[in-house]
Amino acid sequence: MSENPDAQASAKPIAVTLPDGRRREFPGPLSGAELAAAIGAGLARAALAVKIDGRPRDLAALIDHDADIAVITREMPEGIEILRHDAAHVMAEAVKELYPDSQVTFGPATDNGFYYDFARDAPFTPEDLALIEERMREIVRRDEPITREVWDRDRAVAFFAGIGERYKAEYIGEIPPAEEISVYRQGKFVDLCVGPHLPSTGRLGQAFKLMSVAGAYWRGDPNNPQLQRIHGTAWPSQKELDQYLFRLEEAERRDHRRLGRELDLFHLQEEAVGSVFWHPKGWRLYRIIEEYMRRRLDAAGYLEVRGPTLLDRSLWEASGHWETFRENMFIAESRDERILAVKPMNCPGHVLIFRNRLRSYRELPLRLAEFGSCHRNEPSGALHGLMRVRGFIQDDAHIFCTEDQVTAEAIGCCKLLLSIYRDFGFDDVEIKFADRPPVRVGSDAVWDRAEKDLKAAVETLDLAYTLNPGEGAFYGPKLEFHLRDAIGRQWQCGTVQLDFNMPGRLGAVYVGEDGGRHTPVMLHRAILGSVERFIGILIEHYAGHFPLWLAPIQAVVASITDEAAAYADEVAGELRTAGLRVLIDTSNEKIGYKVREHSLAKVPLVLVVGRREAEQRSLSLRRLGSPAQEALALAEAVARLTEEAAPPG
Ligand SMILES: [Zn+2]
Ligand SMILES: [Zn+2]
Repeated sequence: MSENPDAQASAKPIAVTLPDGRRREFPGPLSGAELAAAIGAGLARAALAVKIDGRPRDLAALIDHDADIAVITREMPEGIEILRHDAAHVMAEAVKELYPDSQVTFGPATDNGFYYDFARDAPFTPEDLALIEERMREIVRRDEPITREVWDRDRAVAFFAGIGERYKAEYIGEIPPAEEISVYRQGKFVDLCVGPHLPSTGRLGQAFKLMSVAGAYWRGDPNNPQLQRIHGTAWPSQKELDQYLFRLEEAERRDHRRLGRELDLFHLQEEAVGSVFWHPKGWRLYRIIEEYMRRRLDAAGYLEVRGPTLLDRSLWEASGHWETFRENMFIAESRDERILAVKPMNCPGHVLIFRNRLRSYRELPLRLAEFGSCHRNEPSGALHGLMRVRGFIQDDAHIFCTEDQVTAEAIGCCKLLLSIYRDFGFDDVEIKFADRPPVRVGSDAVWDRAEKDLKAAVETLDLAYTLNPGEGAFYGPKLEFHLRDAIGRQWQCGTVQLDFNMPGRLGAVYVGEDGGRHTPVMLHRAILGSVERFIGILIEHYAGHFPLWLAPIQAVVASITDEAAAYADEVAGELRTAGLRVLIDTSNEKIGYKVREHSLAKVPLVLVVGRREAEQRSLSLRRLGSPAQEALALAEAVARLTEEAAPPG
């Protein structure tokens, strides 16, 4: 049975509303393809599918009632998803043609492409992947029509069981009887699928590539048989595919785990899963960042505190973390059998500092900051270098203030965050405003005010922001700061989050101007987020070539001959006295070799000294990434480099 009933459907006129609000009338039902053609030949060519009342459908689907219609083209997010899903079907068809003994299971679209899980005894080799990709290209050239059919359940089970597709048959057998079962057919390949799909395989185009094969379990359950998952990527155009592959290559070249090893910054090992061993150079970088942040916080009126790491279970129960965050917390027991949790966040500790004595409104806003050492019991599979760890320092702060101070404090946070990001080399920051989630505490009136106050901050500063609807925390709305790195990836780092729940829950009060007791509002705000992760982002953003102020070693003084060794010491001594981080290389290697070695270690400056430089009290300056040399008098070099190396802010 086809989706399109015959033309005998009553010829009732159909009114269609397009995304721009235009209305079109048609004498009777028509397909998505016919609608696209009626709007224009260009759109008909670009059309992949159609959205009927917000639901994506095939171009062949019949529009048989007055409806909101949007034509989906290949550049639209919905279009890209259909292309990727089609690529999965085309891959499955290719696999079945080449390896008839394999069984198909599921194959969805993903963020950058698609995959399909196959059951097959023999492993797919890289050579197999090349063959499969070539066969996919042939299937695209065949331009096979893709058609949708609705089957009844017994027929579908019998069909897939009959062709040896046990997984499909098992799955269909479990679909509730009331649900419609649709299959898509292209060439000899038939797959169970809700769709939508392209009208034919030719529309997929050739901008795809198979990437890898990995193990996966049937329905994600390790007790089930193991399958082979082939990953691919697919894009609307060859240009976008090329750009994606270039980004992958760049990401690989910049991988912070590799650079961390090559630059001797840190390592991770089994004995401390998810926690970092910082080596001298990496810890130097850490301290530079911490010292810079401290200066900025002092200047912005924050007071640094330090809360305990182990806190009693009763506190976590009172804060609500025991109930909602328990599985992410490491638990310890003391000799007197008290249960303690290693803090996964700093907020409850700061509330205890706030309420240690009765506060007055005159103390508000009170901005408590901490480089808080936090631990979260992340599943080992989720860990990834510095980007996802179990033990980390959060550059956290909690601002206790009155309701009237919220907007001014949020403005202060936004300014501080953006200024700090600029100093670290991130100029492209996207702000997202996450508003009330469906499950939340507090009345609508309180939320209305909270959202208005937080939004007023970004609007006062004339900052562009996008809405992240329903993504606020259950206790309040938040601003998220997403940083774009050198290769276009976005990283969410900072958050400014309004909380009108926890202070009351933990009994924080202040005496107001009216002499009465009030509960303060609390802003949670982080700038870098996890310092570990931020360093990972910095390493990849700069590909290890840090700006001078961040470089763990800023300069190497390299001697050309032994005769200059004493002078090299003297030069290094002067630079160190001026506050620079300097190494001396008076080894017996040739100067060209030394320069190469220190360039590979990504030291920003190499200062070359020989007999002539010693006599003239000068040096020859080379900068990382440039072949040029500059002759400078020692005193001038010290003055200039000291200024250049000074941290911003
Ligand atoms: Zn499908
Ligand atoms: Zn907090």
